[in-house]
Amino acid sequence: MLEITCPFCGPRSETEYINGGPSKVNRAESPDGFTDSEWVDYLILAPNPLGPVKEEWCHIMGCSLWFTITRDTVTHEILPSPETSNE
Ligand SMILES: [Zn+2]
Repeated sequence: MLEITCPFCGPRSETEYINGGPSKVNRAESPDGFTDSEWVDYLILAPNPLGPVKEEWCHIMGCSLWFTITRDTVTHEILPSPETSNE
């Protein structure tokens, strides 16, 4: 089980959070230039990269605020990032 540090409340179990998915995903503005199959894949398939990924998390069992962490999707290690550092 992950321990995620909320920048407002401190370290808490992952059961107190929901994962909002990758942060700042580039989105297409229109289906122009896509085949129908490519557009359906774009709308339905979520990216699932290996390695460090910036993700949005919400502390729903605490302060209910959203924040960004960088998590390695292979090891689940939460890496330092500007959004979670105290500097
Ligand atoms: Zn919190």
